Amino acid sequence: MPTFVYMTSCDGCGYCVDICPSDIMHIDPTYRRAFNVEPNMCWECYSCVKACPQQAIDCRGYADFAPLGHSVRVLREEEKATVSWRIKFRDGREKNFVSPIRTTPWGSIKGPSDYPPPDSAAMRSQALAHEPEALKVATLPTLPSTRFKKGLV
Ligand code: SF4
Ligand code: SF4
Repeated sequence: MPTFVYMTSCDGCGYCVDICPSDIMHIDPTYRRAFNVEPNMCWECYSCVKACPQQAIDCRGYADFAPLGHSVRVLREEEKATVSWRIKFRDGREKNFVSPIRTTPWGSIKGPSDYPPPDSAAMRSQALAHEPEALKVATLPTLPSTRFKKGLV
């Protein structure tokens, strides 16, 4: 279910723009409000829903899930650290789901700029940033250089 923005609720803070992994949340240059420029490319990750402090983002239900006459409302409740989903079907039935936004306290995750820049050895490593410690394992398997494509050693 791709997302859309209620422009009358949006204040143009840009949090959804920053967090969208598909880079499809943009700020309209005229109205200074966010909008989803390409719903077909939406990952449906709902990071924007979780990030929006104005409850300005909702999603459109697919026809098989919530056909004509439906509504899908998403409510982000930061104080409870939850996202609530209210789905109303056209026959009047309602389904409500509550999911945790996160499992760690707000503000407890460091941003990329809080870490020192990677050195040249880290840039050549097969591990991603903060691996393997972030995965809470001692080591990760690596590919032998003989299996690399030519020029990638
Ligand atoms: Fe971007 Fe995810 Fe929101 Fe889709 S649901 S607009 S991919 S942040
Ligand atoms: Fe608008 Fe919400 Fe996006 Fe901020 S996070 S720009 S309020 S839709």
